[in-house]
Amino acid sequence: MSNYSFKGGIVIKNPYLVNKVEIIQASLPKKIILPLQKFDGKAKPCVSVGDYVLVGQVVASTESGFDVSSHASISGVVLSIDTQDIVHKSGFKFQCITIKSDGEDKWIDNKGGNVDFLHYSKETLVGIIQKSGIVGMGGAGFPTHVKINKVLDCHTLIINGTECEPGVMCDDALMQFYPKEIILGIEILLYICGADRAIIAIEDDKQAAYQALLTVNRNDRININQIPTKYTSGAEKLLIKALLDIEILSGGFAINEGIICQNISTTKAVFDAVINHKPLVSRIVTVTGDGVYPNNFEVRLGASFEHLISMTSPNTKEHNYRMGGMMMGIDVVDINMPIGKTTSAIFVNNKVSEPIVQECIRCGQCSEVCPIGLLPQQLYWYIKSKNFEKALNYNLPDCIECACCDYVCPSHIPLVSYFSFAKTFSKQQTIEQNKVNTARERFKYREYRLERNKLERAQVMLDKKKALKEKMAKEQFQKQKITEAIQRVKQAKDKI
Ligand code: SF4
Ligand code: SF4
Repeated sequence: MSNYSFKGGIVIKNPYLVNKVEIIQASLPKKIILPLQKFDGKAKPCVSVGDYVLVGQVVASTESGFDVSSHASISGVVLSIDTQDIVHKSGFKFQCITIKSDGEDKWIDNKGGNVDFLHYSKETLVGIIQKSGIVGMGGAGFPTHVKINKVLDCHTLIINGTECEPGVMCDDALMQFYPKEIILGIEILLYICGADRAIIAIEDDKQAAYQALLTVNRNDRININQIPTKYTSGAEKLLIKALLDIEILSGGFAINEGIICQNISTTKAVFDAVINHKPLVSRIVTVTGDGVYPNNFEVRLGASFEHLISMTSPNTKEHNYRMGGMMMGIDVVDINMPIGKTTSAIFVNNKVSEPIVQECIRCGQCSEVCPIGLLPQQLYWYIKSKNFEKALNYNLPDCIECACCDYVCPSHIPLVSYFSFAKTFSKQQTIEQNKVNTARERFKYREYRLERNKLERAQVMLDKKKALKEKMAKEQFQKQKITEAIQRVKQAKDKI
């Protein structure tokens, strides 16, 4: 029987505790920036510069059945459609639509309100979820309708309410303030994917959220399980192992074991879309760190980081900014960049000098905390000596970049930076190698094709020559026959 925990990981005390978890409605931003990059490509704008748009109006869509639409989150005028910087691991620029607010907050007529979802077919509900722009809001941003549509043999739906990182409290707040909506959202997902049961996983330091859900849950197919508060319990495979004692092997997927995982925020978004016909135009974001008064805000998608940070009374010191979390987040260099569907938290910390990196003392602490069971110091040595192949043999691709090893390393070695670099480098090398292999195969086939054509042509020439020879021999034979016949006629005449 599982004890709802897993090997490795670390217990990190929330460094930015608040007396009371709240959700504050952020003011309307003066402008928003909506990136058009999707999972499966790029969405096409369906508005032009100068157009007036309403809140909830589709401004970009994709023809692929895989991706979701983008909606205006404020009413106003389309200011530009161009490439801009957004917070993304790749550091690339993406095409974006910028909308300037008219300050009116005028909505499309969405004709929603207390719909009984059981009147809809599963296909209709999947369509509503896709059209409402819902993606996994825990971090990966995978389109929700793809995860739940036409799944076979799904027995368990896991709802991840663990909060991915210490200090983040957006899901905690949602569970405390919207428990009914979350339960109904889960019932909709259960209906669509046909799972026997759902398990909501909540860390045991979120008692208020746990009690709120327990109080409203009347569905005996939905269990609410408390799990020990430990980082990285929110990682999908680890959560499955903790809850169900099922191991998803390297390269494997939860769905292959009949399991679907969804984030708490996503279930609330599903409720809003299906019951209230409200597309995804806002989300709850935690703003925390020692540079601000931590709190949660409901903010319109596309508002700038700066817009939200300005509401948290930041101190006057110089700050570092990070999106997502202190462990796995991404550094934000420009706070004018937009908040997206997966922005769960913004960390605003006072700038401090970086610790000095020292040599590895082979203490082994990194291996003890690795939740995947890797050998980080070994990986580090191989990568440092550019022996990427050895690092791959030591399961480098399985590293989830959780930074537990970084956190405990007494030598302050930025291990995750090494692992992340080596993974990207190896991926690039594989792509390059595949390109070389494809080019080599193409060259070989071209050579074979040319040789084959040459042989075929030679054969044709030979056949032609042979046919000509035969024709000439035949003609010669005919001529001979005619000559002989003429001679015979002549001889006969001479005798007469
Ligand atoms: S924790 Fe740091 S110093 Fe210790 S073995 Fe790992 S990499 Fe080396
Ligand atoms: S970052 Fe990778 S190697 Fe380090 S603890 Fe996490 S999974 Fe293990």
